[in-house]
Amino acid sequence: MNNTDLIIIGAGPGGYRAAEYAAKQGLKVVIFEGGEVGGTCLNVGCIPTKTYVHSASFEEARERLGQVVPQLRQGVEGILSNPNITLVREKGVFVDAHTVGDYTGNYVIIATGSETKMIPVQGLDDPRLVDSTGLLSLESLPKRLCIIGAGVIGMEFASAFQRFGSEVTVIEFLKECLPALDSDIAKRLRKTLEKKGISFKMKTAVQNLVDLDADVILMATGRKPRVQPDFANAGFEYDERKGITVYENFETTVKGIYAIGDVNGKQMLAHAAEMQAIRAVNHILGKTDCIRFDIMPAAIFTTPEAACVGASEDQLKEQGVEYECRKAFYRANGKALAMNEPEGLLKLFSEPNAGKILGCHAFGAHSADLAQEASVLMCLDTTVEQLRDMVHIHPTLSELLFAAAEA
Ligand SMILES: Cc1cc2nc3c(=O)[nH]c(=O)nc-3n(C[C@H](O)[C@H](O)[C@H](O)COP(=O)(O)OP(=O)(O)OC[C@H]3O[C@@H](n4cnc5c(N)ncnc54)[C@H](O)[C@@H]3O)c2cc1C
Repeated sequence: MNNTDLIIIGAGPGGYRAAEYAAKQGLKVVIFEGGEVGGTCLNVGCIPTKTYVHSASFEEARERLGQVVPQLRQGVEGILSNPNITLVREKGVFVDAHTVGDYTGNYVIIATGSETKMIPVQGLDDPRLVDSTGLLSLESLPKRLCIIGAGVIGMEFASAFQRFGSEVTVIEFLKECLPALDSDIAKRLRKTLEKKGISFKMKTAVQNLVDLDADVILMATGRKPRVQPDFANAGFEYDERKGITVYENFETTVKGIYAIGDVNGKQMLAHAAEMQAIRAVNHILGKTDCIRFDIMPAAIFTTPEAACVGASEDQLKEQGVEYECRKAFYRANGKALAMNEPEGLLKLFSEPNAGKILGCHAFGAHSADLAQEASVLMCLDTTVEQLRDMVHIHPTLSELLFAAAEA
């Protein structure tokens, strides 16, 4: 048996970031990866989808995918070549809480990610059915694409494939798309995409795939934590549906064993996985940090994109919180018009009397960058009154935040 300080299972954004940071802090790290380094995000998630979003045609997207992904994978291989890190290219299996494969570690971080969640409908053996990974490996553009689910993955693929020339239909059980987004923003985004030619069937439950008129059907009904039977050998608490139970430092119910990223089901985003990695390693090292997991910006890379941080208006109403809502429209922003991007709206929520910023939800060109600025302001407990005194470059889209503060 080989001894080490830290064993990590999975080399996605959570795992490789934990390995990099721990190794820099002087820990001896062994990291197991059963597939390609980079995980879902780099190989079949964030990066391939954004390559599709930023390509003019399906053919160009396929070609660029073949360049972008290997280049980034090489970068991760570089990170993992640190002398303090041993990369084991096989599946990590728990023998007991501190033993994985042939290695025993003082600490273990589980970062096994997530997988597609299928809903129980009839016809799941339909050859037209794919998940997001299957859609990314199609070699020709489908004439008619049907997408089940108007969440982030469904909406991003709908937008990209409509631009490539597919006839796209999105079927969604709920009343509105993108439930984490302010419903007013979500509705406006959906209407914008509808005008571009995407057909939406809202409040519709798919019963049988055979009934769907399409060449390819994408199941985009969410993802579930990737738990495996040998987790039982380690003795921590976990649930097939909700993932591994963790405390605020991402330690599981067994001391010294941590679970970060999608596998704990908390915030299924690549940047969340990376920051959870830092928190877990800090806890191992006995260090404290100021990471604000309650301020988690997120974006939806449709065309135009949408983004949010903090509370939506729906949430503030539901919680009975007193708030002010300020709006800024893209059509009144000089840079947006110069860019020929007049479609979009930013909503800024704050405590009454131009107080502390509580949230920002927007759709429109580069709205992710605006939510990022709002996120920084929220981390610093900035008020709307203070934002009004902050100089913004002219002409920029960030003047939308300034305009909202002044509204
Ligand atoms: C289509 C799509 C688009 C997305 N777009 C975005 C986006 O734009 N922005 C964003 O923030 N997030 C996005 N996400 C989500 C993002 O990919 C995940 O939140 C992120 O990858 C989670 O990181 P992770 O490290 O927890 O797990 P993963 O990236 O899933 O990595 C887990 C790794 O563990 C390995 N593994 C699993 N079990 C074992 C084992 N027993 N032994 C060894 N290795 C194992 C896997 O092979 C994998 O490499 C997207 C996801 C999808 C599917």
